[in-house]
Amino acid sequence: MNIRIIEMNENFLRFVVEGIDPALANTLRRIILSEVPTMAVDEVVIIENSSILHNEILALRLGLIPLKTDLDSYNLPEDCSCKSEFGCSLCRSTLTLDVQAGDEVRTVYSGDLVPEDPDVAPTSDEIPIVKLAPGQKIRLEAYARLGRGKDHAKWQPVSLCIYRYMPKIEIDEERCNTCGRCVDICPKKVLAEKDGKIKVENLIECTLCGDCVDSCGEEPPAIKVSWDDKTFIFDLESTGALPVKRIVIEALKALNEKFSDFMESLTEVAYEPKKD
Ligand code: SF4
Ligand code: SF4
Ligand SMILES: [Zn+2]
Repeated sequence: MNIRIIEMNENFLRFVVEGIDPALANTLRRIILSEVPTMAVDEVVIIENSSILHNEILALRLGLIPLKTDLDSYNLPEDCSCKSEFGCSLCRSTLTLDVQAGDEVRTVYSGDLVPEDPDVAPTSDEIPIVKLAPGQKIRLEAYARLGRGKDHAKWQPVSLCIYRYMPKIEIDEERCNTCGRCVDICPKKVLAEKDGKIKVENLIECTLCGDCVDSCGEEPPAIKVSWDDKTFIFDLESTGALPVKRIVIEALKALNEKFSDFMESLTEVAYEPKKD
């Protein structure tokens, strides 16, 4: 297996993995989506709500606001020593909301939530929650807990997690008349004409749409598009809950633990050869 990082910042990662098959690529995608813990609002105590939204919808909207996650300071509720349904300061963090519209309509944003722990705050202050008509009011306490995407999508650490095959583009220079139609039609500007020849400039952006092949007047087309089924391009975008690099590291740890558990269970089983 060979891995190349193409682009990485706090919230976005593009990397290429060579030498794996679709089953392993999909395993990595699913582990990232379902096994990396993040913080999300899990329970809401509504003290007052005269807005147009029912309490349940308000609670649902709060649950879907991505929260910054401090994985090193909080425990998953099931692993916490408190063993309490209410949680403790090691497995729960509170955010409060106390807003009232004056004489004008007021939009309540995620930035109006006041976090008990600044490390467990909304990743953006600009997510609209509800509009309040003049005089309407909301007072509530929201309890955030660590959880996993396999239990609810609100705990998924990524807003994007996809992989695709690495494209392969071949141009038959003997038959290509450099008409440039394939260059003009490509929506991703993958191809370019240089020194009287058609060149592949930006292979990784190719979506395998096939428009370049369809546009070629030669029969059979002088351009061929296929893919390498052992090489995958991964694109990941964090919700902001965790840095994208940490998400991949935690996913690999989770995968490793699963295999270790599998190995342990196998070694615990006493194998008795069948007697004829
Ligand atoms: S397959 Fe589509 S994206 Fe790829 S080079 Fe051809 S036109 Fe461009
Ligand atoms: S459309 Fe066909 S013939 Fe025209 S430049 Fe592209 S590959 Fe060559
Ligand atoms: Zn606890």
